[in-house]
Amino acid sequence: MHGYIAPLRLRLDGDALVSNWRWLARMSGPAACGAAIKANGYGLGAEEVMRRLTHAGCRDFFVSNWGEALALEPLMADGVRLSVLHGVRDEDMAIAVASRAKPVLCAPAQVARWRDAGQKSCDVMIDTGMNRLGLDWRCDAAGILDGLTIETVMSHLASADEEVALNAVQRDRFAQIALGVPAERYSLANSAGICLNADYRFDLTRPGIALYGGVPHAKAAGHIRRVVQPQAQILQRRRLIAGDSIGYNATFTAKQDHEVAILNLGYADGYLRGFSGTGAASVAGVRLPVLGRVSMDLAAIDVSAVPGLSEGDWVDIDYDLPRASAASGLSQYELLTGLGARYDRLWA
Ligand SMILES: *Cc1c(COP(=O)(O)O)cnc(C)c1O
Repeated sequence: MHGYIAPLRLRLDGDALVSNWRWLARMSGPAACGAAIKANGYGLGAEEVMRRLTHAGCRDFFVSNWGEALALEPLMADGVRLSVLHGVRDEDMAIAVASRAKPVLCAPAQVARWRDAGQKSCDVMIDTGMNRLGLDWRCDAAGILDGLTIETVMSHLASADEEVALNAVQRDRFAQIALGVPAERYSLANSAGICLNADYRFDLTRPGIALYGGVPHAKAAGHIRRVVQPQAQILQRRRLIAGDSIGYNATFTAKQDHEVAILNLGYADGYLRGFSGTGAASVAGVRLPVLGRVSMDLAAIDVSAVPGLSEGDWVDIDYDLPRASAASGLSQYELLTGLGARYDRLWA
C-alpha cells in the first residue's frame, strides 16, 4: 500500500476531539473523565485518539478485548490506565497477566480465574439492571470479590439518553454496591450519563460517543463539536436523461435531465443502503442528493447544482451524526463504527 492514496478519506478534527473531552471533563465535575476507545476508537483510529487524549490529560481508557489492549499498550504513558471491558477468558489469561492493562471482571468465573492467577489489581463490572455484563447487583458481590485488589467498580446505564425511572433505579443500586465493595474508585456514567446530573458522576466517567461528535443528550447539543468528515472522490461523471433510471433495481427514474457523479463510496464503507435516496454530499455548502440505491462500493449523487465538478474532485459526505442518523435509520454509534478500513484517516 506504500504511497497509495485511497479514493475516500476521513478528515478528523483533533481540536474538536480534545474540545469534546474537555467539555465532558468539565461536566464530570470533580470526577476524573476517561475515554472509551473500543472498536478502533469508534472507527476513528484508537491509537491517534489515545495519543491526543493522553496529551490533553486523560488517564483512563477503555477497550473491549485483549486484542485491542495489546495494540494500545505501547502507547500507555506513565500513569495511564487501560481497562478491558469484557474481562478475561481462559484464552486471555497469559496475555492479561503479562499486560499493563487490567481486566474488568464481569462474572463470578472471571473473578475466580483472576484470583487463582495472582493478585494484580483489576476492575469489576456490576450489573444494575441492563442484564448484559457484570455481577448481578442482587448477589453477594462483597463476598465474591473478597480479597481482590479493586481499582474501579463500575456499572453501565441502559437508558441514560432517555428520562426514564430506570436511570435512578440503577444509580441507587450502584450507590448501595459502592457502600459494600471496597475499591479505589466508582464509575457509572457514559456520555449520556454525564449529561443527567451530578448524582451519576461518582469518581470517574467513561464517555465514548460524545468524544467523537455524537450528541448523546439534548444538553450536549451546541457543546459537542463534529470530529469526523468523510469525503469521497468522483470516479465518473455522467448525464442522466429524462426517463433513464440509475443503480440496482432502478429505484430512481429521472423526470428531467440530471448531472450525475459516481462516488467511490458504498455500503462496504459503512455508507449503508439506508442512505439510498435519503443521503447527500455537498460542495461548498451546496447539497448534492444521493440518487437511487447505494451499492457495495459506489453511490451516485446529483451534481446539477454544481455542474463544474469533474472526475477526481472530492465531495463532503453529509455525516452530521444526528442528521445522518435520522436520514439513514442508523444510530450515531453505527454510523461511526461502520466506517471501514478503506478510508485514509487524515488528522488535522
Ligand atoms: C462503550 C461503553 C461506554 C461509552 O459509552 P458511550 O455511550 O459511547 O458514551 C462506557 N462504558 C461502557 C461499559 C461501555 O461499554
